[in-house]
Parts: sequence; structure tokens; C-alpha cells
Amino acid sequence: MSRLIPPGSTLGVLGSGQLGRMFTLAARRMGYRVHVLSPDDDTPTGQVADVEIKAAYDDLDQVADFARGVRVVTFEFENVPASTTEAASRFAPIRPAGSVLQTTQNRLIEKNYLRSIGLPVTDFARVDSLASLNEAVAKLGLPAVLKTSAWGYDGKGQILLRSQEEIPSAWERMAGQECILEAWVDFAGEISVIGARALDGGIETFGPVANVHHRHILDISVCPAPGLGEKVRRRAVEMTRAVLESLEVVGVLCVEMFVTADGELLINELAPRPHNSGHLTIDACDSCQFEQQVRAICGLPLGSTRMRAAAAMANLLGDLWAGPMDYSRALAFPELKLHLYGKAAARPGRKMGHLTALADTPQEAEQIVRQARLALTGSAERSS
Ligand code: AMP
Repeated sequence: MSRLIPPGSTLGVLGSGQLGRMFTLAARRMGYRVHVLSPDDDTPTGQVADVEIKAAYDDLDQVADFARGVRVVTFEFENVPASTTEAASRFAPIRPAGSVLQTTQNRLIEKNYLRSIGLPVTDFARVDSLASLNEAVAKLGLPAVLKTSAWGYDGKGQILLRSQEEIPSAWERMAGQECILEAWVDFAGEISVIGARALDGGIETFGPVANVHHRHILDISVCPAPGLGEKVRRRAVEMTRAVLESLEVVGVLCVEMFVTADGELLINELAPRPHNSGHLTIDACDSCQFEQQVRAICGLPLGSTRMRAAAAMANLLGDLWAGPMDYSRALAFPELKLHLYGKAAARPGRKMGHLTALADTPQEAEQIVRQARLALTGSAERSS
């Protein structure tokens, strides 16, 4: 059988959020059909897919049925259980492979893996008791961040420890889950590189993108990352290529990194899928991160990642929906692109959409998305 999965074929996606939605939009534009499986219905992905299957990830009969109906399975959510990808892999290839998920869905396994291949990570220690947390604090110092090893994203399951007194209650809040304590990184900036690796091993990358987080959630992304020296830029791309090659990723993977004051890079996290910091590629690049995901998993050559202009993205969190939204005022910025994910309930911290702008410089693009976001709520102050 040819390794090419041609347009007209059906692709499967596990997980049904905005990443699956934008993957599906890219796939459908290229003539593919998309089936999605997740425990929910009327989802951001399901609204634009051909078929939406509502099933628990551990309903392995439904997972098997889903996989029988598609040529390849990908995911948009890295916390898919290993048993799910295993059940699906009997009927269709999983891209990236389930083994990539298993390495990246646990912070301890991920950091140990990165160290083992010689890549720099934040200092860390495993914590599974109050005694081991005290030992880890003695080794790494304070402040430090206590994170659950598994199931964490967007700052969920993270506690910043500033003083010894906070240690017992922090451990209590973790309710006996395996954790990791990370040394606090007094970073000069945060960046990400998003890489795609094709079935034949070809790699294309986007970025580095400069990222600003607010309450542990990505707030603003800007590309090209302002003020980043050529050496750091090249090193960030090299490190991303090394991860893609070593994990033999077929698909898209994002490497989030801290840049220290002396220009050192430390990997914070891997995401084996398109990433929020890559959303600006939809409007800014010849082929966006979602098109690359489609091309990679279908055995097609990767597209060009050339940027047409500098770009910035501002996330729209549910907090903004507390009052009326003034779309006319925001879209009065002619450079602005509005992306909404079709989510009905706007909860605080929930990613509802994003804004992208292209401009001559990254600074100008950033100014436009910030101003447009303010205009959206009619506020003079930042409200997310
Ligand atoms: P994470 O979920 O691990 O990506 O963390 C979300 C955000 O919290 C990061 O992008 C940083 O802004 C911040 N953060 C997490 N870990 C650390 C750390 N060890 N030192 C400093 N900031 C951190």
C-alpha cells in the first residue's frame, strides 16, 4: 500500500478543542474528510468535522470503531490515555506515535528524556511525599514551582512556592499525586519553536516565537521574536530539530523554552501537536502549523513556512465575555483577523478565540492585537 494518504481520504482526530478545529479546517480545505472522537458533543472540532463521535477515551470498542473508519489517527490533546492510542493503532497508524504521547504527557518522563539526549532543562526533582518535597526544596532552593507530573496544562496543577511555610499546604493540595519540583527560572523571555516532521524525515520549523504568559496561560505571541540574537535563534531551531528526530515524530511538535539573561536556553515543555503560540502561522505563513500536521500525517511533502510579514497573536479568554463584545470596533483595525472557536460557555481562563495581525514589524503587529483586544471590550485597561 502506498504511504500516501491522498485528499478525499478520511482522517481521524482524538480530542475536540480548538486545535482539532483548526486542523479540521486545514484538512477540509485540502479535500479530506475528518472524524473526531471525544467525550463531548457540539465541540469546536465537531462543529466543522464530517462526523463527531461522542465517546469516553476508555471506551475501547468505540475507539476501535472510530479507527476502522479512518486512514490515519492524530490527536489535538496530549492527555489521551495510552490504552486509547493502542486500541486505535490496531486499525490505523497513529501520528505522532503513541510512544511520543507517553514521553510528553508526564513532565518527569519528558525532562528525563530530554536530559538523556543532551538537551538543557530546568533543574528538577521528583516529589512523592512531604519528606521528598522538603528534600527537593533543600536541593533546588526557593522560589520553586511544584507541578503534578501528569495531566497538567495551562498552569493547571501548579503551585509557586515562595517560603518554607507554604510547603505542607502545597503538598496537601496535590492530594498524593506524583509531582515534580522545578527550580524557579528568572527568565529574560519565553520562546517556542514549532516543528513539523514528514514521514520521510523532512523537517520544517516556525519561529522562534516570543511568548508572554498571564496567570500561567499564553497571552501574546509575536514572531519574529524581537531582540533574539541569531545564535540563540539558531540554537532554538537546532534543539527543536533534535527533539523531532530523536522522538521520530511524524506530525507537529512544539518546544517551549525559557531564555535566560545570558542567552542560555532551557526547555520548559514539549507539546506533540500544533500549539497556541503557532496560531499566528494561519495568517502569516505560506503553510500554517495545521496544514503541516495534515501534510505530515498523510505522507505528503511539507509546505513552506515562509512568513509573509511580522505577526502577533492575542488570546481571547472567557474573562473578556463578562460584558458585551464590540466586534465592529475590534475589526475596524483592517489588519486584524478574528478567530473564534465556537464555544458556547465563556468561563474565566477558557480559550475562546484569538486575534492575529500582520505588520511591518513584530512590535507594530503586537500593538494592533493589543489595541484591538481592548476595543473588543470597550475597555481602557487590559482585562485578561
Ligand atoms: P507550564 O504549564 O509548565 O508551561 O507553565 C506555564 C507558565 O508558567 C510558563 O510558560 C512560565 O511562564 C511559568 N513557569 C512554569 N514553570 C516555571 C519555572 N520553573 N520558572 C519560571 N516560570 C515558570
